[in-house]
Amino acid sequence: MEIRVLGCSGGIGGAARRTTAFCVDTDILIDCGTGVGDLPFEALVGLDHVFLTHAHLDHIALLPMLIDSTMSERTHPLMVYGLPETLDVLRRHIFNWAIWPDFTRLPSAEAPALRLVPVVHGQTLDLDGRRIQVLPARHSVPAAGYYLQCGDAGFAFTGDTTVCSSLLAALNALPNLRYLVVETAFPEAMRARAEASSHLHPEALGHFLSALSGSPDVYVTHLKPNCEGAACAEIVALDCTPPPRFLQPGQIFRLAVGKGRDRETRESLASVDAGRA
Ligand SMILES: [Zn+2]
Ligand SMILES: [Zn+2]
Repeated sequence: MEIRVLGCSGGIGGAARRTTAFCVDTDILIDCGTGVGDLPFEALVGLDHVFLTHAHLDHIALLPMLIDSTMSERTHPLMVYGLPETLDVLRRHIFNWAIWPDFTRLPSAEAPALRLVPVVHGQTLDLDGRRIQVLPARHSVPAAGYYLQCGDAGFAFTGDTTVCSSLLAALNALPNLRYLVVETAFPEAMRARAEASSHLHPEALGHFLSALSGSPDVYVTHLKPNCEGAACAEIVALDCTPPPRFLQPGQIFRLAVGKGRDRETRESLASVDAGRA
């Protein structure tokens, strides 16, 4: 299983900032932020599944245009998974014929281009041996994270969340957590804003990471564009071992079935990070 970072910023501005999206192999997206727009058209057509963490615009921004652009090329529907509340927002506020056509009824209600599939926290789906578990999260709207497992290695993405005891319990129950991508949006100077919007800030991130029972490689994502410098400095200063790294656009994680191959991936990532530092 290969997981490629298409977008990992909390906003836009310049070529390096795209909002949240991960491409898993060639057919799965985790979130559908602006990073999806960098994929070639043929790659967009090859996407069959989209797992949404929540309904906020930075995570769904390109879903309407993804289905519109590729509908005529599709031989089967695009499956969009999310919490029932997330899918309800899509139905009422996006695919409502006012903002965008209802692609769950196009080209026909019997054979639509888009299907909305509800999931619940704790549920695990198996897509050709790639297991995707829905993790709990605590945000200003109903939200989820996802844990991707292939063989004996796993990758967890928190989505947008503040400190969440049920998420920590779920992460600590995972036997094979190799990589953890965790959000942080604002620096300490904007702590009130972070708390009001149910995002993490560096001090809360430190508490969150210190409560982990395992020692996955941790990557921070979702920093807001005007906060990157201050938040990064505060995160680097956290007393965490190993220290968190910062997720990069284009970064690739490979989960292999054999332990040896996974170890090679970890070493190559470490060298990539060392080169950037
Ligand atoms: Zn959000
Ligand atoms: Zn967000």
